[in-house]
Amino acid sequence: MNILVINCGSSSLKYQLINSETEDVLAKGLCERIGIDGMLTYQPAGGEKEKSEKAMPTHTEAIKFVIEALTNEKTGVIKSLDEVGAVGHRIVHGGEKFTASTVLTAETIQAIEECSDLAPLHNPANLIGVRACQELMPNVPMVAVFDTAFHQTMPKTAYLYGLPYEYYENYKVRRYGFHGTSHSFVSKRTAEIIGKPYEDCKIIVCHLGNGASLSAVMNGKSVDTSMGLTPLEGLVMGTRSGDIDPAIIEFVAKKEGKTLDEMMNILNKKSGLLGISCVSSDGRDLEDAASKGDEKAQAALDIFAYRVVKYIGAYAAAMNGVDAIVFTAGIGENDISCRSKVCKNLTYLGAQIDEELNKCRGEERIISTPESKVKLLVVPTNEELAIARETLALVK
Ligand code: AMP
Repeated sequence: MNILVINCGSSSLKYQLINSETEDVLAKGLCERIGIDGMLTYQPAGGEKEKSEKAMPTHTEAIKFVIEALTNEKTGVIKSLDEVGAVGHRIVHGGEKFTASTVLTAETIQAIEECSDLAPLHNPANLIGVRACQELMPNVPMVAVFDTAFHQTMPKTAYLYGLPYEYYENYKVRRYGFHGTSHSFVSKRTAEIIGKPYEDCKIIVCHLGNGASLSAVMNGKSVDTSMGLTPLEGLVMGTRSGDIDPAIIEFVAKKEGKTLDEMMNILNKKSGLLGISCVSSDGRDLEDAASKGDEKAQAALDIFAYRVVKYIGAYAAAMNGVDAIVFTAGIGENDISCRSKVCKNLTYLGAQIDEELNKCRGEERIISTPESKVKLLVVPTNEELAIARETLALVK
């Protein structure tokens, strides 16, 4: 069966068509500037990437162009929509309602809408994609795969904040965690690689991308994760601050005469690697700048790695041990010096990095020495494939 995987944002939409038997990507691409003007990128497997300007006043036109590209006589990969067996949608927030992926029905869509106040920028945009697909493919089954669902196994000790309990009861203020599809995919694969049953493993997943989070996965379940009510908590990220003393918000707001909205915008979009370095949010730019002697860029890279080290320590403690620590996503898969810096501070756990094996980018590999008590790995994440697998399991 071919599964169309859709990741829909407010003005963009990423897609992949995946053959679920072979798990090959048949075609992939992106619609950008939806509601502004419109740009379609389309790439069939083994073919050239094509970019074309298309008028996309809404997501419905965007998906129409995606379908046209997929079924195009010359460069398409399927003859008609009949060859799409299901659509898998990435949905950011499932609140406490969704502990697993679910088939999209009128009831489940309404339940996702009810979670929208927890992710006001993301869930409504995700649902626009769902509705546009339903309009154009009314008979194709659709599945929602949530970023939060994998972390719903966290115990109360990990997910409750030290706040008045009524905020949890009245507004569901708690830790949810994100990147769940990636943490689940990568931890399962790690268990396979180290040859231990998933149900018996203690794994720390370091998803280090522009957005970054760690998770502690014990006996096949997420027991803690660094992002919280929103993706702002935890590690220092590309443009997000991660953990800070909450009193800083009031302190700076008073000094600079800023509103709460302005402060949140600074914490989400102008902090992290970008804020510290004053150079860029991108790891590669920072490495370049640091190699030319830029001290703030070097500080940003060091602070990023230090925060990862601290969270690994916390999660090894939370699980009372760790079998494997795995790096994934843009920085985790590609940044050799970041991995090296982090792993140098893990010798107290008995973890020993092999610096030669560590010289790899974007490939699956064990990077610890044979003697290392804790296995260190790089496992590329593949959220689209994980969504396709979940979708297949529900529609089969
Ligand atoms: P993601 O959000 O997973 O796409 O990851 C994006 C981040 O990965 C950006 O900060 C990139 O700078 C970083 N990244 C990608 N390739 C490399 C590389 N070769 N070396 C260092 N960082 C990289």
